[in-house]
Amino acid sequence: MNDTLLKPPSNTHADFRMRVLLPYPLESAYDYALDEPLPRGTLVAAPLGSRICTGVVWGEADGTIAHERIKRAAALDGHPRLPESLCDFIDWTARYTLTPPGLVLAMALRVRDAFEPERPRLGYARGQITPPRLTPPRARVLALAEDGLARSAAALAEEANVTPSVVRGLIDAGALKEVALPEFAALACPDPDYAPARLNAEQEQAARQLTATSPTGFSVTLLDGVTGSGKTETYFEAVAEALRQNRQVLILLPEIALTVQFLDRFAARFGCRPAEWHSDLSTKERRRVYRAVLAGEARVVVGARSTLFLPFPSLGLVIVDEEHEQAYKQEEGVIYHARDMAVVRARIENAAVVLASATPSLETYVNAESGRYHWLKLPRRHGAAVMPEIRLVDLRNTRSEPGTWLSQPLREALAVTLGAGEQAMLFLNRRGYAPLTLCEACGHKLVCQQCSAWLVEHRYHRKLACHHCGFEMPAPLLCPQCKAEKTLVACGPGVERVAEEFATVFPEARTAIASSDTLHGPLETQAAIRAMAKRETQVLIGTQIVAKGHHFPQLTLVGVIDADLGGSDGDLRARERTFQLLHQVAGRAGRAEKPGLVLIQTRNPDDPVMQALASGQRDAFYAQEIEARKRVAAPPFGRLAAIILASHDGNAVRETGRALARAAPKAHGVKVWGPTPAFYQLLRGRTRERLLVQAERSVDIQAYLRAWLARVKIPNAVRLTVDIDPVSFF
Ligand code: ADP
Ligand code: ZN
Repeated sequence: MNDTLLKPPSNTHADFRMRVLLPYPLESAYDYALDEPLPRGTLVAAPLGSRICTGVVWGEADGTIAHERIKRAAALDGHPRLPESLCDFIDWTARYTLTPPGLVLAMALRVRDAFEPERPRLGYARGQITPPRLTPPRARVLALAEDGLARSAAALAEEANVTPSVVRGLIDAGALKEVALPEFAALACPDPDYAPARLNAEQEQAARQLTATSPTGFSVTLLDGVTGSGKTETYFEAVAEALRQNRQVLILLPEIALTVQFLDRFAARFGCRPAEWHSDLSTKERRRVYRAVLAGEARVVVGARSTLFLPFPSLGLVIVDEEHEQAYKQEEGVIYHARDMAVVRARIENAAVVLASATPSLETYVNAESGRYHWLKLPRRHGAAVMPEIRLVDLRNTRSEPGTWLSQPLREALAVTLGAGEQAMLFLNRRGYAPLTLCEACGHKLVCQQCSAWLVEHRYHRKLACHHCGFEMPAPLLCPQCKAEKTLVACGPGVERVAEEFATVFPEARTAIASSDTLHGPLETQAAIRAMAKRETQVLIGTQIVAKGHHFPQLTLVGVIDADLGGSDGDLRARERTFQLLHQVAGRAGRAEKPGLVLIQTRNPDDPVMQALASGQRDAFYAQEIEARKRVAAPPFGRLAAIILASHDGNAVRETGRALARAAPKAHGVKVWGPTPAFYQLLRGRTRERLLVQAERSVDIQAYLRAWLARVKIPNAVRLTVDIDPVSFF
């Protein structure tokens, strides 16, 4: 856009003023003087205090800095420019989340040295000249170089068994010429026609509609298909179409663990793997992908939520797989929801968005129902697979020994499955051995000193751990309170404890525990998934890291150990979340020819969530949930924002909370609740209080918050965080 170019200033100085955004938590962009007008997105070196920082030209000067105080910035020559649409997206995100724009920019630039010119690695190949003096060592080197390949000087010396000075002599004589070695092989380009799937009739129809909408500009489509219906196969057709249109594609997955199987599937369809983006990449890989995205060479990028801030110059399609996942909400730093921001980015880029899920978020569902989003449905599993049978096991009526968690019906079903040579999965969304350790003598509970949270026993590692701050201690022998011996008991189950019980009942079965404590990093997760896929593991006992997305054809039984864990009145999304999670878990069963069975253990079989799961009446559940939210004007029928105050100084937190509450502006359609102690009153040693703003949909909640926060001086010791559209309430 040319309107960001500055007209020559009227003063005699031949300099041009522009706003430059620096990647720091400053309130706004600052004016700088430049030698020439530069387009938005241009990288510049700009002084800030005594430092020189990399900043980005952001737009016209706003004239707030006096002439004599203005500093000079200079374009970083030879550096690529950030796409203007990314700058717009950064501004939008900053405004929406009430974050200083520089912090959002920092997130988008977070690749160390991404803009440093690539330092060419030099190699040497056979040159034109034959040296006058051809000693045997020299001859050996030249013979080696006859093949025309470039090698580093060190490699030549080593391979020809000569000293480095021999090689240097040949270089000086011109017998070897310098050539740049490419640092990386170029990224492979996915081929849209490599191996298209033979779609079934329903997939075909959905794919046709997706490809019809996608290349024509901004649109949002909910791809609503039951687990195993082939949503991936279907949206791959939209990916293929975007590739044919020469546009880039971004595929968001909620967790890195899911990318492993995904990359292989993608390669089978498109002939090569897509570029990846997540926190586990090395700095070098990050740099490479960042540059390839910016150069338009990375045609398809798969990654976690931060992929959204990559500098795509020609983004045409964004896929948000498992769009309902809470993992899309970033809870630290810049607090944003990647699914919502994906829609925003797509609108700015004039791109299409596909939100895929078997259990859409209520927000998306309502948008689809109202016609704001396109709604494509895949109501059946692909091929011979049918939806699994889901049965509730009423724990109130099944007798079991105290301290055991596998009910008789579940044990019987496991025996049948293992007898038939099939696989099973036991799901419990709790890491470790037991969530609580209690003294039987005095009732003392072992809690973290830094967090108001129970210490979780990890028996395998013989320790107690806080899942919030990472505090760990060896399991004590005496009760820390009453000093009694052998009175500490483990209460409730974690996956380790379920695995222990399982092993006593089925000592022969090959099991694996899958939780973030037992699988360290993507490689181990990958190995565990492969072992399950190859049937080396018969029974996988895991937390939600195994619940989602995976496809194990021989997995026919899923047991949900405690369906009531999600709670039903914890927060406004508890019911929705429980439904989604358990539905996803259930969806792992019977995905191929053999039918699946799901047993859900619960003490509340009459609960609407359990009933909806057992009867398969998903839409009835959504209808009920929508009514409940409407009644209380909860999202998406109203808006929410949370303010969280935290400090090591408890009094400062409470005082600030009260001051904020007193200063809350009166506004029509806005209610302010709190301050109240947060769910975890103490977290990592900080006292925490929360305030909640509830507003009607028509209210500009950001404007309200800005006006409000401008009225109160927040002490330095207190950290204030604004969470727009909060999804968790801890
Ligand atoms: P979803 O994402 O909807 O749960 P997937 O896309 O994972 O479903 O598909 C489930 C399984 O069915 C996968 O193994 C997939 O390869 C297979 N599948 C789906 N559609 C087709 C098709 N048209 N042709 C061949 N296999 C398919
Ligand atoms: Zn802690």
